[in-house]
Amino acid sequence: MKITLMKKLSIAILIAILGSIALTSFISNYTVSKKFKEYLIDEHKSKENDVIKMIEDLYAKQNNFTNTNKDEIQRYAELQKLYIEVRDLNNNILYSSGNDYLQQKNGMGNMMMGSMMRNFSGMNLGQYTENKYPLSINNKNVGTIIIGYFGTSYLSSGSVTFISTLNHSLLLSAVIALIFGLIISIIISKGISKPIINITKTANTMRTGNLEVRSLVNTNTKEIDELSNSINYLAETLNDQEMLRKRMTSDIAHELRTPLTTLKTHIEAFIDGIWEPTTERFESFYEEIERLTKLVDNLRNLAKLEQTNLNLSKSKVNISTELEKIIDSFKPLYIKEHYELNGIIEPEITTILDKDKFKQIITNLLSNSYRYLKENGRVTVTLKEENKNIIIKVIDTGIGIPEKDLPYIFERFYRSDISRNTNTGGSGIGLTITKAFVEAHGGKISAQSKENEGTTFTIYLPA
Ligand code: ADP
Repeated sequence: MKITLMKKLSIAILIAILGSIALTSFISNYTVSKKFKEYLIDEHKSKENDVIKMIEDLYAKQNNFTNTNKDEIQRYAELQKLYIEVRDLNNNILYSSGNDYLQQKNGMGNMMMGSMMRNFSGMNLGQYTENKYPLSINNKNVGTIIIGYFGTSYLSSGSVTFISTLNHSLLLSAVIALIFGLIISIIISKGISKPIINITKTANTMRTGNLEVRSLVNTNTKEIDELSNSINYLAETLNDQEMLRKRMTSDIAHELRTPLTTLKTHIEAFIDGIWEPTTERFESFYEEIERLTKLVDNLRNLAKLEQTNLNLSKSKVNISTELEKIIDSFKPLYIKEHYELNGIIEPEITTILDKDKFKQIITNLLSNSYRYLKENGRVTVTLKEENKNIIIKVIDTGIGIPEKDLPYIFERFYRSDISRNTNTGGSGIGLTITKAFVEAHGGKISAQSKENEGTTFTIYLPA
């Protein structure tokens, strides 16, 4: 059974509140009761001591009790709800307070005990107990004092009120805490569940294909805010991927269409007898077919690149000399177009990498720079080692990359509008391959560019 977050949170908070109230009530009731019982017992003890002292004082005067003495003891016994009896050494009763008032009290005591039992569970207050004490005058034992009482007799009405007030206030605070907790739990769970519901709505809208929606939640809960940002990021990424997919399909269709159209019109001309099938014409067919084959190969290579982990055959390579060699091999091509190609190379930088892949990385970047240079263009390749990183830059003064295209140039088949419109002969996968090779070496590649001013590609390789 699925239960809503709001319900779950509210129930959890309420259970926590109820649990803590029950625990606090139990602990406070138990400790207060215990302390209170100890206090009452002490009180009773001092009451008994008073009785003993009073009897001894009165007896000592004449070695017996006068009627006035007896009245005094009787008053005290009734007031304190105690049974008092004094016997001599021969066990003759010298004084007895009688127990009429105690019997009365017993009835009441039972009633009181009933209410006490509710408050003090485990305290046996209804029992009648008698304690015997020696009656000693001048350290000589002359008789026995018997003090009897019902357990409840040492519970004054004040103490009963105290205990019941304590319990009432505990109950009242429990009810207030519960109401308060209920309100707080509703506020908290609403605060948490509402933005999540909004995010879910956004995600569901995205599922229907609308990738333009964004989750707009106003929350101060860090995790929910992050979730909302992640959903928005996901929407953006999916949107970009969707755009790239559409663009890639149309690009591939375009790439396929051009050679196919050429072939088709030429063959139609042969069939109609308008054109003679000359070697020259077959050669141009061959070129078109080559272009198609190259495109298909590229597609296949790219698929391989994405499916498998790249196998690198690594060895120790002096990249300073390697880079010089690649630059030298490009020089004739650049010179032919009156372009300038220079290297600022820190010598003797070595690292372990796949030499062929490294060569392809630099070749791809230099071919691109060459392809997108302007008149009197200049390309500079730099190499240096910094903080355990090998940094290679390829800086050109070419046509640059529009800002809107810059985030996508490493995507498969992505070509900026300028290079799509001008026939540069590119296919939009050079940089995808370059990036895959750099990353396979644990490195990073990035591009900075300004339209009409030039582009800089930076490669970081671990030294
Ligand atoms: P392409 O085969 O089209 O050059 P790449 O993957 O190598 O494919 O490059 C992707 C796109 O990035 C290019 O179409 C071009 O728009 C842009 N680009 C790459 N290098 C440069 C550069 N040095 N100067 C300007 N634009 C560049």
